[in-house]
Amino acid sequence: MSATNFDIAIIGGGVIGLSVARALSGHQLRVAVIDAGHDTPPATDAAAGMLAASFETAGDAGMANALYALGAQSLAAWPDFAATLEDETGLSLDYRDDGILAVAFDERQATALKQSGDQLRRRGGDASFLDGDAARQLEPALSDRVIAALYAPGDAQVDPRKLLIALRAAFRKTAGAFFGARVEQVEGGRSGHRLTLSNGVRLEAKSVVLASGAAATQLVAGLPPAPITPVKGEALAVDRGDHNFRHVIRCPARPALPYLCPKAEGRVIIGATEIPGRRDASVDDASIRKLRAGAADVVPALRHWPEIERWSGLRPATPDGAPILGRDRRGPDDVFLALGHYRNGILLAPACAAALSRDILEGERPGEGPSPLTYLQPFRPERFD
Ligand SMILES: Cc1cc2nc3c(=O)[nH]c(=O)nc-3n(C[C@H](O)[C@H](O)[C@H](O)COP(=O)(O)OP(=O)(O)OC[C@H]3O[C@@H](n4cnc5c(N)ncnc54)[C@H](O)[C@@H]3O)c2cc1C
Repeated sequence: MSATNFDIAIIGGGVIGLSVARALSGHQLRVAVIDAGHDTPPATDAAAGMLAASFETAGDAGMANALYALGAQSLAAWPDFAATLEDETGLSLDYRDDGILAVAFDERQATALKQSGDQLRRRGGDASFLDGDAARQLEPALSDRVIAALYAPGDAQVDPRKLLIALRAAFRKTAGAFFGARVEQVEGGRSGHRLTLSNGVRLEAKSVVLASGAAATQLVAGLPPAPITPVKGEALAVDRGDHNFRHVIRCPARPALPYLCPKAEGRVIIGATEIPGRRDASVDDASIRKLRAGAADVVPALRHWPEIERWSGLRPATPDGAPILGRDRRGPDDVFLALGHYRNGILLAPACAAALSRDILEGERPGEGPSPLTYLQPFRPERFD
């Protein structure tokens, strides 16, 4: 079979691959997205959709600060990202900017929340520390046992499945080519890269973007394997009927207690376990019972809400918890990595896609020294050497 030519082939059609495709649209490029579907349980369909920039990066280490800055930048990009995608496709993403509440049940947890709020404000973020009554005034569904909360009014949420549907629809509108197959191999060719697909199709592309999530990444000849490990997450959804419940609620940190995300059509997502190293899609009964019991401690009415669905997905994790972005200078030219978004791929998609697309369109060329896009630097693939 003869090969079809593209300017850019993106391997992986999750939120990251499709957001990169979106950021590249409008540049008269022939873009292909190749996606293997559910061979490896993808992360995007499984996500809760919190855009929780204020809560996901504890500590003052360099990488935590860089990741916070990337998250804050992406959170700021979300309203426009959501509005233009909804306008273009006529589809709702269920984007909500009601803020996120983290709650405490005892003084120790309350002190930890207060400290997180102080750190957030030092970084330029916005959060208010509330006592239990003030928290319940904001979110009446909360239990009487909640004694304090940290409220981040700027954090938001979106429905990841609706997002994926809209991103696919927008990609189709750009006349991009979508291939439902697994990329088996990428080799250097005379005019770029040659991709062999599981259905026997061959593609050629000048540039390749690797956005394959938690799946193994040793696809590209000559590219060192990226240090990605899957961290399985199980979650469930219940139906709250017409019960009034608006805010995303996060429970105290380890051992992991759940978060609750109220969505449209009465769904409430309750997530999620963290099981490193597992690649299967099974969902454990005991884990679901535990998540549900923990959630009912925070929102007691939930005891009466029927379960409507349970699922799992694989988060793509890196050794330092931050994504891997840009061209790996140890590998072939024009192969770009957009991997390892771990717990925050939905939040980070707009900023990462914008940065990566600029790197592809304007970034360093071999022999021309470091990329001018300095804000990608902390996330460069070579940092694990
Ligand atoms: C339970 C759970 C809850 C989460 N909650 C949140 C949240 O609230 N907020 C947030 O920001 N993030 C959340 N995340 C994390 C987020 O879902 C991920 O960071 C994000 O979806 C990663 O997107 P991705 O496109 O890199 O990967 P994926 O969505 O996994 O997409 C990768 C795609 O690449 C395809 N692929 C792989 N290998 C190949 C190949 N060789 N050829 C072709 N295709 C290939 C796969 O089939 C897959 O479709 C959560 C994740 C889980 C599991």
